[in-house]
Amino acid sequence: MGTKGAEIVKLDLKKVIELLNKAFADEWLAYYQYWIGAQVVRGPMRDAVVAELLEHATDELRHAQMLSQRIIQLGGTPLLDPKMWDTYANCSYLTPSDPFVKTILRQNIEGEQCAIDVYNDLLSTTLHKDVITYNMAYEILNDEVEHEDDLQALLEDLDLIK
Ligand code: FE
Ligand code: FE
Ligand code: MG
Repeated sequence: MGTKGAEIVKLDLKKVIELLNKAFADEWLAYYQYWIGAQVVRGPMRDAVVAELLEHATDELRHAQMLSQRIIQLGGTPLLDPKMWDTYANCSYLTPSDPFVKTILRQNIEGEQCAIDVYNDLLSTTLHKDVITYNMAYEILNDEVEHEDDLQALLEDLDLIK
């Protein structure tokens, strides 16, 4: 990174890179959980649920890209081996072994709630100390809040089926 760009980060760069790599691992696992969930999901409103899951998968992949670009800008290396994802992740990967729509939605809601905590914490850590990372975390948090809301709305609609 440029020298002035580095100078305005008032945090230990190694620590920021570590936090970003942890979030990076979360995003890949979230991407895959959505993507594979969209393949196997079964039950009422399947098409609407699949569309939402695939849309969110695309968002999670974009988040992974945003994080990797910032990691590189800070002089770090994004996790190069998928085997690292599980050890680095903040949030658990929830295997969609039960394909029922409500189960898949509940698992992904749990994932979003974990993601909201992760980015909310990253915002606290970087506030007034690393404005670029702060702004990125803010953008991602906006998406995660919307994701949780979308999934809970689908679950509410499913609960109305008699
Ligand atoms: Fe995400
Ligand atoms: Fe999300
Ligand atoms: Mg959505």
